[in-house]
Amino acid sequence: MYQGVECKIYPNQKQANVIQMTFGHTRFIWNQMLDMLNERYQNNKCLKMLSYSKLSSLIPQMKREYTWLKDVDSAAIQCTVKTLSKAFDRFFKGFCKYPNFKSRKNHKQSYLSTIRGNNIRFNHNQRYIKLPKLGWVKCKTSLTHIENDRIKSLTVKQKASGQYYIVLLVTSENQTLPQTQKNVGIDLGVSDLAITSDGQKFASQKLHLKYQKQLYYWEKRLSRRRLKAKAKGIPLMEAKNYQIARKQVARIHEKITNTRKDYIHKITTYFVEQYDVIVLEDLNPSNMLKNHKLARSLTNQSWRTFRIFLEYKCQKYGKRLIIVNPYKTSQLCSNCGYDSGKKPLDIRHWCCPSCHMEHDRDINASKNIKHIGLEQALVT
Ligand SMILES: [Zn+2]
Repeated sequence: MYQGVECKIYPNQKQANVIQMTFGHTRFIWNQMLDMLNERYQNNKCLKMLSYSKLSSLIPQMKREYTWLKDVDSAAIQCTVKTLSKAFDRFFKGFCKYPNFKSRKNHKQSYLSTIRGNNIRFNHNQRYIKLPKLGWVKCKTSLTHIENDRIKSLTVKQKASGQYYIVLLVTSENQTLPQTQKNVGIDLGVSDLAITSDGQKFASQKLHLKYQKQLYYWEKRLSRRRLKAKAKGIPLMEAKNYQIARKQVARIHEKITNTRKDYIHKITTYFVEQYDVIVLEDLNPSNMLKNHKLARSLTNQSWRTFRIFLEYKCQKYGKRLIIVNPYKTSQLCSNCGYDSGKKPLDIRHWCCPSCHMEHDRDINASKNIKHIGLEQALVT
């Protein structure tokens, strides 16, 4: 089992230049090889696709032809060829589209590299990481300690905001958490992100409200500067002020994503620590909120992330996750099972006409989710 760990890195100017050069060189290799394969296919359509070993045997020849390729991490070049070969495999199996050429104009760039000896390693307090051809780079990791011998591979990437990150692929240690003999049902909502069957509510963060002013400010400038550059006939890649605004907008979106993920990490970790069996409602596309507003899309993303995090954490820590169909969970009384029909969304509390129990809408739903899940668990 592997897991990815993302860390932010702070390269100095010289290191940033080397990273940019590696983006460029690996992109060059990708495009050259893809071009060559396209041409080969056009010339003779019956030829079999070249295998990875055949493709990688072309690298030394290319390095002789383009000597500057030697300036960057050779593992990164090797990995590019491997990724291209895998992309073709996936295409032939029908899993994905035909591989595309890579563009310099893409705001997100990345390259992959693998460990050779101990060329990728943290220093003792994990404030710095040694990366191939870059030397020691300042970094910021999450609190968990990563032993150097668990690192398998590395992706260096630049996000749209211009900031650099690395993703380390590390072997994950399956640490089973102690059993607590407690089970829980979770309902996912809008104003509260998660509501549990034992009455806990985890409020939504309302990040769209926190950042809407900043976002509005920079988005307005972005569109104004785009028009200005067009009027002057300057390509957007070279329009400096436009690029500043673009990066600012991307930066705010990244900030929102990071804050959101961090919060969901905290909640999901709490759940796997506290409970043995966790029951969650299935998110089908029809009950996803259909609206293009930022608030709605953030809620949808949060639900999806919540489930993904819970899935992998349950597996990692030896807990059980049950996904149930949310059919009628907001209509039935969790105490006696009486179906009191559909209720408008603004009704937050209701009283069961049959057993006269007072219900909080969301807590009642999560109790029903828990019941359905535990019944399913008995059957299977
Ligand atoms: Zn009832």
